[in-house]
Amino acid sequence: MRLILLGAPGAGKGTQADVLSAKLNIPTISTGNILRAAVKAGTPIGKQAESYMQAGKLVPDEVIIGIMRERLAEDDCKNGYILDGMPRTIPQAEALVAGGVEIDVALSIEIADETIVERMSGRRTCPDCGASYHVINSPSKVEGVCDKCGAALTIRKDDQPEVVKARLVTYHQETEPLKDFYAKLGKLKTVDNQPTIAETSEAIFRTLGI
Ligand code: AMP
Repeated sequence: MRLILLGAPGAGKGTQADVLSAKLNIPTISTGNILRAAVKAGTPIGKQAESYMQAGKLVPDEVIIGIMRERLAEDDCKNGYILDGMPRTIPQAEALVAGGVEIDVALSIEIADETIVERMSGRRTCPDCGASYHVINSPSKVEGVCDKCGAALTIRKDDQPEVVKARLVTYHQETEPLKDFYAKLGKLKTVDNQPTIAETSEAIFRTLGI
């Protein structure tokens, strides 16, 4: 299964990608996590990406396309993958097509903007391994500590309400048109966000027939 997860920031793509990755036994590729690791490590790509990320803007397409090309060539991608947060623009989607990357389904998680702003205020992220939690919907076992690696959880700089609003504008302008792009290819499926993570997962399983 080669799956793209579409949806606004905070729609639950990362959370559902983890659920799907465990169920289907394929890796999740999150450009956001790759970029955050690069920023933390202070690599040239990280230095280039940081200011865009902090402003809630998209990192230039050529940077993302380079990252994806390298990552998809790795061995663990042979049996499929879940793309979380990429493509986010039409040129990125076109680059996948031009690179011969065949996608089975582009699944969009639909959620109202108001719900997102509210939800993002509770998100906590592990700066070391990228795991994501929510203080109410999906808390870590010990408050403030990552279940997976034990690091102290943080609030992403770009989860501040003003930046979230900018990210939503960017989403509607640059990423939402991808729904049409994949609909025209006959690959688009949509699922409405449900009150709980488990119910959204169930809706996704039904839609994907898994
Ligand atoms: P995310 O964790 O997916 O919400 O991504 C966090 C930030 O990383 C975004 O707001 C962008 O600044 C940047 N980013 C992640 N993926 C992409 C992408 N495919 N294209 C451009 N920018 C991206």
